[in-house]
Amino acid sequence: MRIAVFLGSSPGLDSHRVAATELGRAMARGGHGLVYGGAHVGLMGVLADAVLGAGGEVVGVLPQNLVEREVGHTGLTRLELVGTMHERKARMAELADAFVALPGGTGTLDELIEIMTWSQLGLHAKPVALYDVDDFWAPFLALLDHMVVSGYALASARTNLRVVTSPQDLLAVLVTGGRSEP
Ligand code: AMP
Repeated sequence: MRIAVFLGSSPGLDSHRVAATELGRAMARGGHGLVYGGAHVGLMGVLADAVLGAGGEVVGVLPQNLVEREVGHTGLTRLELVGTMHERKARMAELADAFVALPGGTGTLDELIEIMTWSQLGLHAKPVALYDVDDFWAPFLALLDHMVVSGYALASARTNLRVVTSPQDLLAVLVTGGRSEP
């Protein structure tokens, strides 16, 4: 399967780069392709290089303006150029069979939230997972629980989001579907 990964365009923490490398290698070994934002920078570049280095397939989807800012990865299996950030998110969603967020910033959060919202609205039924390294996502999960308790989000918004802490668990959850309710 092809897995879309949302993650930081900044390098972040050492432990996050180690986790991205381990995940990339495990994906390639398991025969899973990577769909991602197409950059060579930050955690994004670390993950793409790990998948490629282990012989895996990587498809990048990059808006033209970011190519002009020279963030594009030149060694990918395929780099698709699109007009806007919105087109990029739609194309990544179309190409992927499953989604996972690693640590990142506002761009990562934007991509994760959109794909969770589309799931809640029934626009897709693909599994969505959080790869939680060193409790990075704990504050986000606390906010999500707070939204559920306050009546602003359905419990399924939380239960359908699978939280994993190892590449093995992630791949197991994604391969079996990972979604507990429609
Ligand atoms: P952030 O977490 O804010 O670093 O944003 C990373 C996410 O947003 C990635 O999954 C990308 O798809 C997208 N993105 C944000 N900034 C960039 C960039 N400079 N180059 C490529 N993709 C980016």
